[in-house]
Formats: sequence, structure tokens, C-alpha cells
Amino acid sequence: MNFEYDNDNIFAKILRGEIPCIKVFEDEHTLAFMDIMPQKPGHTLVIPKESATTIYDLSDEACLSCMKTVKIVGKAIEKAMQSEGSTIFQLNGVFAGQSVPHFHFHVFPGPPVDLKDHAVELEDVEKLKLIANKIVACI
Ligand code: AMP
Repeated sequence: MNFEYDNDNIFAKILRGEIPCIKVFEDEHTLAFMDIMPQKPGHTLVIPKESATTIYDLSDEACLSCMKTVKIVGKAIEKAMQSEGSTIFQLNGVFAGQSVPHFHFHVFPGPPVDLKDHAVELEDVEKLKLIANKIVACI
């Protein structure tokens, strides 16, 4: 079951510039930034600027814009983290484990193994910035 879009969710605040993020890419329709509780080094989020909670609420146009950004960022993550592959996933609804009610893709290097727990442990901001710089350099 979907939940109502909440304009005060943390990603809406990031989009409005009310709270900071460690940005790796931005275009007219999307924003990509480091996950502050990464499950693996290089864990990055891609969000649409459109207000939507799940993939089912998102317009086809915004979905396509996100996929384009996921491809740009995912390729850069593979290069920056020296990984031959990457994992892309996204969760829809509380029951599926979605914790932030603004649509997003997760992207990280390599397979979905040896992962830290989802959205649990805050990473050191300076470490995240170093990784972000490497990713940005590969875009
Ligand atoms: P989900 O559970 O699929 O909704 O994922 C939300 C993700 O957002 C989790 O991986 C969190 O670690 C991450 N997250 C939560 N707050 C922030 C934030 N302020 N900046 C960056 N990532 C965040």
C-alpha cells in the first residue's frame, strides 16, 4: 500500500536546499547524492525533482529521467570504486521497507553481498566526501 506524499520528508528538504547533501550529480529533473548510512562504500541515491513516493506515483517522464541519471552515476560508481559491476534497487512502500517517502534508486558497486544493515549506521561525512569526489571525477 502506498502512503501520501509528505512535503516535509528529508529528500524534499534536500531538494529545497533546507538541509545539505553530498551531491555527485544534478540536472533539470534529478539529483544524485551520497547515502549517509551506506550499506557499502559508494552507496549513492538518485531522486527525481518531481514529488512522488513510489514508482507507481512517479510520471513516466520523471522515471525515464531517473533511469538516465542512474546510468550516468552507476557507470561512474563502477569506475570510481574499481568494480566490474553494480547493484541498482529501489523500495516501494513501508511494507517493502521504504523509509524515506520520496521515490529514489539506490546504486552501489558490486553485488548485494557483505552489506551493512539498511539505513542504520551513519558514515563519517569526510569519508563520504572523498568517495563523492572520486565518483564526480568519473562522470
Ligand atoms: P529507503 O529505505 O529505500 O527509503 O532508503 C532511504 C535511504 O536514505 C537509506 O538508505 C538512508 O540511509 C538514506 N538517507 C536517509 N536520510 C538521508 C540523508 N539525509 N541524506 C542521505 N541519505 C539519507
